[in-house]
Amino acid sequence: MQVNATVPDNDSATAWMAEGNCRNYPPAVFFPSDGVGVDRARKICNQDCPVAETCLEYALEHRIEHGVWGGCSERERRRILKRRKIDVSVG
Ligand code: SF4
Repeated sequence: MQVNATVPDNDSATAWMAEGNCRNYPPAVFFPSDGVGVDRARKICNQDCPVAETCLEYALEHRIEHGVWGGCSERERRRILKRRKIDVSVG
């Protein structure tokens, strides 16, 4: 049986990606090499991306180190993970 590759796989854990603001930009925009690039990507995420929360949680859960996800840079995600670790051990 042939599968039509243009039909989104709604059962996929990453189906939400098709809804993101970033779908209209080259992927390289979200893997910037400097702070200016990070700001640019962040702005796109923060323009009411409808899946920003899911995107951020996906990156955190999968420990994705590179790129801007859910409006957060690599450094910001590291900070969130660290904070959560502390919260869990304290709580
Ligand atoms: S939050 Fe940013 S990286 Fe994530 S889906 Fe939206 S636009 Fe794309």
